[in-house]
Amino acid sequence: MRQKIEFQCNGYGDYWEPAITNEGETPEQCAERIVQHFNDTLYPGEKARTVTGVRLAPDAQVTIEHNWYKLNNVTIMKPGPHDQYRCLKCHAMGKRFTLDGDVQVDYRHRSKKNCKI
Ligand SMILES: [Zn+2]
Repeated sequence: MRQKIEFQCNGYGDYWEPAITNEGETPEQCAERIVQHFNDTLYPGEKARTVTGVRLAPDAQVTIEHNWYKLNNVTIMKPGPHDQYRCLKCHAMGKRFTLDGDVQVDYRHRSKKNCKI
């Protein structure tokens, strides 16, 4: 399950950086991964960061996965065989082209209001 988290770094006061964990990753691992990437790509004069705190975001319990339901009864054949889906939570539209594939979110619905940010 992916979770919304926040983490703090040394030298940034009381600022909490928002982040979303990858599948199978703990909040601590997620913060370390992001800060490691930052440290690996420092600009001249920038200081490496160290994670000093990690916590779940206040709305971490809100799931961030879409909850798809299928709109069509019969597979749609154009432009290629696919099924159409709508998300019950954010109303994004999506298409799925193969039986075991992921639903691909319509590009018009990829906004911050939708489930996956
Ligand atoms: Zn959704």
